[in-house]
Amino acid sequence: MTDFPVSRRGLLGGLTMAGAMTAPRGTAAAPGKSWDYVVVGAGVFGAWTAWTLRRRRARVLLVDAWGPAHARASSGGETRLIRTEYAGDPLYTRMAWDSLAEWRSLSARHENALFHQVGALYIFPRDDAGIDRSIALQRALGIPVEKLPVADMHRRWPQLSYADITLGVYQPTMGALMARRSVQALVTEFVAAGGEYRQMEILPPRAQGQGLSGIEASDGRTLSAGRYVFACGPWLPRLFPDVVGARIAPSRQDVFFFAPDPGDARFGEASLPAWVDMSSADLHYGFPDIESRGFKVALDAHGPKIDPDTADRRIGDQALADVRAYLARRFPALAQRPLAESRVCQYENSDNGDLLIDRHPGWGNVWIVGGGSGHGFKHGPAVGRYVAGLTDGAAAEPRFLLAAHAPHGERPA
Ligand SMILES: Cc1cc2nc3c(=O)[nH]c(=O)nc-3n(C[C@H](O)[C@H](O)[C@H](O)COP(=O)(O)OP(=O)(O)OC[C@H]3O[C@@H](n4cnc5c(N)ncnc54)[C@H](O)[C@@H]3O)c2cc1C
Repeated sequence: MTDFPVSRRGLLGGLTMAGAMTAPRGTAAAPGKSWDYVVVGAGVFGAWTAWTLRRRRARVLLVDAWGPAHARASSGGETRLIRTEYAGDPLYTRMAWDSLAEWRSLSARHENALFHQVGALYIFPRDDAGIDRSIALQRALGIPVEKLPVADMHRRWPQLSYADITLGVYQPTMGALMARRSVQALVTEFVAAGGEYRQMEILPPRAQGQGLSGIEASDGRTLSAGRYVFACGPWLPRLFPDVVGARIAPSRQDVFFFAPDPGDARFGEASLPAWVDMSSADLHYGFPDIESRGFKVALDAHGPKIDPDTADRRIGDQALADVRAYLARRFPALAQRPLAESRVCQYENSDNGDLLIDRHPGWGNVWIVGGGSGHGFKHGPAVGRYVAGLTDGAAAEPRFLLAAHAPHGERPA
């Protein structure tokens, strides 16, 4: 959080300083091309990729059909949790921890906080060795983590009912990223630093030999760059039906915001961390009332398949009844409070939850970036850096490759 407004001069200065590090291999202007890179998709992955490439002094055009972090993009929600609790998976634990530093820095450059350090609390029905392994991994990286008995949690957060819970894991330095505003702030910085942004729809690219010489927009214009990055979230299967296809399956996810009692500060960000309830396989999670939107609660279980363009985004009565029944068990004071707002978003699920980031198998100058699978937002800064490196010849992470992702339905998710 900062209390000074961002100035264009300060911004440009900061980015220029950063960009004045060595220009990486391969970012020299592509001869005869308008840009070194066109990045398609201004969600969290495309925005961080474009920002990082521009910081490396590449000429970058970022385009989006509906605008950065628009209402139907997966990045378009109010808040996203950043946490390093990844069940002991070193890859995502490190990516999240590295990314947090960059999110903090982005937040500090803007007048209104983009990161709220409310902490993150996991509540578990029983202890097991995996919890300790994950804590050990995080502590080895210097991440503050506390393992808490129920009595401690009850003293600190009496708003929760802990009936079936035996312990908690609390990460005091984690919290909430203001999703939509963060992406929009990043695109503003990108443009202020000399990047170009346009609102336009790109058509599915067509076969052109070993690489693309241009991509077509729906208004008939052709964009020509040295390299192309497609970070199109749940729309990737539509753009690349043969290569991505069923490797990404968007699922409907309902999100609810409830209004606490008037004057009740127990559910505000000073009183309650973000939380994840591990007591069922479906995982409810939520946030305190941040920026007065209301107390947020959602279910992590994958909802029905969804078409991001045509889906009916109204909340059903049954879904609301289910979430009220959950609140009655865990946050009883909120169970009958008014629904302040609801949203329907979509996860862009890979078959195993790993990110899907790879070079197109047929076109050497095209990269596909997606598969955030309900946990990708926090990794935006790390993904931007990774993709910038990858397009410049850096080694690939095997878990992200197309070959590591089966189409849904071909083997168990
Ligand atoms: C309800 C919900 C809760 C979540 N909670 C968390 C969380 O707590 N923590 C976390 O880390 N992650 C979370 N996630 C996951 C995270 O938000 C996503 O993984 C991430 O936002 C995906 O970003 P993206 O850039 O890949 O896709 P998107 O944000 O969908 O961006 C893709 C963009 O591509 C554009 N596009 C598509 N096709 C075209 C085209 N043909 N031409 C031009 N533009 C095009 C779209 O308009 C869109 O803006 C959550 C997701 C949801 C839905």
